[in-house]
Amino acid sequence: MAKGRDKHQARQQELSLFGKDLVRRCGAQCEMCAESGVPLSIFEVPPVPSEPDFDRCAMFCETCQEQINQPKRRDSNHWRCLNGAIWSEVPVVKALAVVMLEKVATQEAWAVDLQEQIYLQEGEQTLIDAIRPELK
Ligand SMILES: [Zn+2]
Repeated sequence: MAKGRDKHQARQQELSLFGKDLVRRCGAQCEMCAESGVPLSIFEVPPVPSEPDFDRCAMFCETCQEQINQPKRRDSNHWRCLNGAIWSEVPVVKALAVVMLEKVATQEAWAVDLQEQIYLQEGEQTLIDAIRPELK
């Protein structure tokens, strides 16, 4: 038990080194739903690399993190924020948004329509393909 906790703490410490730059990048808004005035914390987009990687981290609010991690509690209405997120200039946020949109699109017509607007830059498909099998 203690070992796992130490490992977790070491990871958090390493991630905290990214904190300042991530705070600057996100401008105090959740990088997924754009909510401001809520607590944000670092979310490592899966698959999580063995070494913490700044480009695989995002600042998300608690609601987004819960909605990503707990598929059973997923609320399609919350994910209307993907209207903005699929245009994110942060590749890992955009790629995660595209994968989440695929999930929502199995249930919501608006999500299917939104999928038609996705415009991928080079390399983003690779990232999407890496994230897809990691998310339930
Ligand atoms: Zn959010």
